[in-house]
Amino acid sequence: MKRVVVIGAGPAGSAAAMSLTRSPRVQVVVLERAHLPRRKVCGSGLSPWALTLLDRMGVGARVRKEAYPIRAGIVGGSQGQSVELRSHYEAAVLLRERFDMLLAHEAARRGAQLREGVRVDRLVRDQGQLRGVQTSAGEIEADAVIVCNGANSKLAKAPRPGQTLHTILGWYEGIDGISDAVELYFDAVVKPYYGWVFPESRSRVNIGICYAPTPGGLNARQRFEVFLERRLAKRLKYATPVGGLVGHPVATCSRPTSLVQPGTLLAGEAGRLVDPATAEGIHHALASGWLAGEFLGSLLEQGGELTEPRLRPYTQLVQKRIGPRLRTGQLFLHMARTPVLDLALRLGSLPAIRSLLTWLLAGA
Ligand SMILES: Cc1cc2nc3c(=O)[nH]c(=O)nc-3n(C[C@H](O)[C@H](O)[C@H](O)COP(=O)(O)OP(=O)(O)OC[C@H]3O[C@@H](n4cnc5c(N)ncnc54)[C@H](O)[C@@H]3O)c2cc1C
Repeated sequence: MKRVVVIGAGPAGSAAAMSLTRSPRVQVVVLERAHLPRRKVCGSGLSPWALTLLDRMGVGARVRKEAYPIRAGIVGGSQGQSVELRSHYEAAVLLRERFDMLLAHEAARRGAQLREGVRVDRLVRDQGQLRGVQTSAGEIEADAVIVCNGANSKLAKAPRPGQTLHTILGWYEGIDGISDAVELYFDAVVKPYYGWVFPESRSRVNIGICYAPTPGGLNARQRFEVFLERRLAKRLKYATPVGGLVGHPVATCSRPTSLVQPGTLLAGEAGRLVDPATAEGIHHALASGWLAGEFLGSLLEQGGELTEPRLRPYTQLVQKRIGPRLRTGQLFLHMARTPVLDLALRLGSLPAIRSLLTWLLAGA
């Protein structure tokens, strides 16, 4: 029996664990530093691609049952213009506390050992070969690890070019005009990134912004206040904030790189697999986690050392699977940096423009 330690029980870790449980001679141990349900700063938006993948993983129906269904997107430009895009695409919002717990428990139900409250401090190597992990509960031996511990991961450092975005987010009850649409506003205070309103239920939304910090520029709270004042002041008049504002970095890239080290694969945001324009990371975490589990499972069946050259095809698989989406995001980002996006939104009544925007919004 081989033992694989999966570090982190976010979407990447749970997908990796679920995928690995299909290999009969692999023992899967998921180490999560928090106790579930734990808070995750996130808009909790599940794109059409994420829902399709969840279906393939066999959990789509359960996620849909708990989630708030999304049928449209409202996109606003920097000059106040906006368009509502409706299509056959199906998206959803499910609070991450619930989403992540559902997936982690499903991984455990399929045979993974889920250990909560165990923090991994470092990977243990002997002459370059992986021996296990050093944790808050002592050393744990492993034949391989999948690092899925998110944006702040320091466990398998390597040069991974990309942009780290800042975010700030809050929850509100009783905002006016909640519908079945997610709202994205490319306001000047965050451009080329955006602020959003994502409904989690008929009465509750999360509102956030993501942006690239500029030296001497406004801080997160100041930008958020400007955003609320300009876009949502009237609708928030009788709304109540739920808890305080929270922030978290988002580690994005436009090309996946350096996802393997001896005995080690990276998945999800630990590998910067987040869209450079929209900060969508859940689908990429699920897809890369699943691939990592599948790829590692088949190598372990074959036997032999898990050297870096043997693991390298995993990076290529991720590039093939997620790379086109990240590049589309990069394209969208270029568009948002120029007047093209504002122009497209002004021409939003034209069917061809609406199709393009819908595709970019749902796809990227
Ligand atoms: C404000 C904000 C809004 C966002 N909105 C969206 C959105 O609407 N849709 C979307 O698709 N994406 C969104 N994202 C991105 C998305 O949240 C992430 O990309 C996604 O969560 C990455 O999943 P992951 O499994 O790689 O990592 P995470 O979800 O971060 O999970 C990592 C897990 O590892 C655990 N961990 C960390 N360190 C250790 C350690 N040393 N030992 C053990 N466990 C550890 C953590 O507790 C956590 O449970 C948003 C991000 C932010 C910041």
